[in-house]
Amino acid sequence: MTSNESLPVAVVGAGPVGLAAAARLVVRGIEPLILERGASVGAALLEWGHVRVFSPWKYNIDDAARNLLDATGWAAPVPDHLPTGREIVEDYLLPLSGVPAIARGLRLGASVTAVARSGFDKVSSIGRDERPFVVRYSNGDGEHDAIVRAVIDASGTWGQPNPMGANGLPVRGERFSDRVSYGIPDVAGTRRADFIGKRTLVVGSGHSAINVALALMELQETDPRTEIFWALRHHGVDRLLGGGLNDQLPERGALGLAAKRAIVDGHLNMLTSFSVQGLTSEDGRVSIEAQAGGKPLRLGVDQVVVVTGFRPDFAFLRELRIEVDPAVEAPPALAPLIDPNLHSCGTVPPHGVEELGHPEKDFYIVGSKSYGRAPTFLMKTGYEQVRSVVAEIAGDHASARSVELVLPETGVCSAVVGSAPSGGCCGGPAPAAVDACCAADAVAKSAGKSGCGCPPSGGQSERVSEGV
Ligand SMILES: Cc1cc2nc3c(=O)[nH]c(=O)nc-3n(C[C@H](O)[C@H](O)[C@H](O)COP(=O)(O)OP(=O)(O)OC[C@H]3O[C@@H](n4cnc5c(N)ncnc54)[C@H](O)[C@@H]3O)c2cc1C
Repeated sequence: MTSNESLPVAVVGAGPVGLAAAARLVVRGIEPLILERGASVGAALLEWGHVRVFSPWKYNIDDAARNLLDATGWAAPVPDHLPTGREIVEDYLLPLSGVPAIARGLRLGASVTAVARSGFDKVSSIGRDERPFVVRYSNGDGEHDAIVRAVIDASGTWGQPNPMGANGLPVRGERFSDRVSYGIPDVAGTRRADFIGKRTLVVGSGHSAINVALALMELQETDPRTEIFWALRHHGVDRLLGGGLNDQLPERGALGLAAKRAIVDGHLNMLTSFSVQGLTSEDGRVSIEAQAGGKPLRLGVDQVVVVTGFRPDFAFLRELRIEVDPAVEAPPALAPLIDPNLHSCGTVPPHGVEELGHPEKDFYIVGSKSYGRAPTFLMKTGYEQVRSVVAEIAGDHASARSVELVLPETGVCSAVVGSAPSGGCCGGPAPAAVDACCAADAVAKSAGKSGCGCPPSGGQSERVSEGV
């Protein structure tokens, strides 16, 4: 054993993937040091605790975590039940964080502010790989440095919502308006008073945007004065809502179908090919200056909800040698597998340590942060990632490289028809129809079948939708 091997492994973030990494470390006999910025494990999930997820419990629990929990007499949730974000925390992550070997290494309220190689700045190379890491974190007691043998960054992307601008920048006035919310505010619950009987603009095109729009419709039933404008950057909604019955995660497909019905019934005002230039405050409302459908638009609203996805925070990794794809901001070997420009249905082969490595040895970004700006991450993907990464850290290279994962298929596509090069979808040619996830799927559908489900070109594969 080298001196580093007696050190703990730092896990940044105690979300589902960070805690799964901790469970894997414990099973391998390695001490985890889990640093979580929030006051609770699953802090990000608690912020969208009111949202019911579309994958049932059987996909949301890591195998190593389950084994640790089973040994405590844990009452496992019903496998086919769809939990809310809060239930995932209360019924799974909190009990897991109470497992003694995990509890011992868990630091809540500990925000990681920097990671570096101990004694080596970014430029110093000779002997670098043998040095341990220093992880700097702040908590109520001040600033601390922990010395660890490896770092697994599972800090997610929830804290970095994308702004409203189509160019990736906040539009004029966006940052100064208290009428703009990000993420998935609880519009029908804790924030009800801000939204009932009011006019809201929802900007975004993922499942989270559908969620917000549907929650606003609940308010509309109580108070018909509640008005909903839903703005998309795309020119149409077919692809967004296309999963429907084809999605093997029925709740995810049902969301699309419910939104489709609402549009047909006139409960949602759709604005397509939408881009905002600026916001101004006028008489207690927000005045939106935008383009929609190729025409200038001025719209006065009471609230704006921006649901345009998230981006990773690399600031605290400044002293590490990390490498990410310039567009997707995922590790270069992973990026082409999840790039929404190339993969119309987000088909992703199973992946692990080979795809997740960085030039900085023993440093890994996992979980939703590993997907960078791609919106298609699922917990089960992250569980396989950390199984592989922890095996590698433990020196079990064969297990680290034997990655496998099967996820339910989806009929949802997210790329512009015909934009994907051959091989971009399901290992086959580009999609040929708006509701297809690959050409083979389109052919099956045009023959009146439910679709081919885009069978993998070889081995197992996972399929994900346009995401959240
Ligand atoms: C509304 C919504 C619905 C979703 N539904 C599904 C679904 O049905 N099925 C599915 O599989 N996936 C779903 N996802 C996607 C994904 O699985 C979740 O986002 C999941 O929470 C990702 O887990 P994670 O551990 O990677 O990151 P997170 O859950 O975001 O956890 C990251 C943790 O790191 C902490 N942190 C951040 N920065 C620091 C720092 N500097 N120092 C210390 N701690 C830090 C955060 O506080 C947080 O607790 C959904 C996501 C959203 C937003």
